[in-house]
Amino acid sequence: MAQGGDVIPLPPPMTRALAAAAEAAEAGEVPVGAVVTCAGEVIAVAANAPRRLHDPTAHAEILAIRAAAVALGRERLEDCDLWVTLEPCARCAGAIAHARIGRLYYAATDPKGGAVEHGPRFFGQPTCHHRPEVYAGIAEAEAARLLRGFFADRRNSSGDGGEPPPGG
Ligand SMILES: [Zn+2]
Repeated sequence: MAQGGDVIPLPPPMTRALAAAAEAAEAGEVPVGAVVTCAGEVIAVAANAPRRLHDPTAHAEILAIRAAAVALGRERLEDCDLWVTLEPCARCAGAIAHARIGRLYYAATDPKGGAVEHGPRFFGQPTCHHRPEVYAGIAEAEAARLLRGFFADRRNSSGDGGEPPPGG
C-alpha cells in the first residue's frame, strides 16, 4: 500500500471527489465523495446519500460504481479507477472487487468503519477474488477536515452526542 501524502496539486479526480464530499455535507450527509475514471476521463461522480435516498447502501462508492457501469454499459470496470475521500467500508470494498476496479485511491483512513487497512482488510482475504492496486492518503488532511467539521457541527447543533462515522 502506497502512502500518497498530501501532494500539491491534488490529482483532479480527487479534487472532484472532495467537492462531492463537501456537497454531501451541505445536504446533511456524512461528507464522502467518489469519482470513477476510465482512461483518465471522469465517468461518474457521486456523493454519499443514504439520508436523501432513504437507502443505507447509498455510499458514494456504490453510487459512483453504479453510474459508471451504466455509462459504460457493462458491469466490469477493470480499466477504471475509483477515487474516494474515505477508506471504503466492507460493502463498498466488496462492490469494488465485484466491479474489478483497477486502482483504488482514497484519502482519509477510517479506523471505525474502514475495511481496507482496518477491520476485515477485505482485499487481503482469500475469498476476495479481485484486489485493486490501493493508494491511500491522497488529500487525507482535507478529507479528514471535512469529516471532523461535519461531526463537530452535528454535535453542536443537535446535541445528540454525534455518532461514529459510517464507513465510506
Ligand atoms: Zn461503503
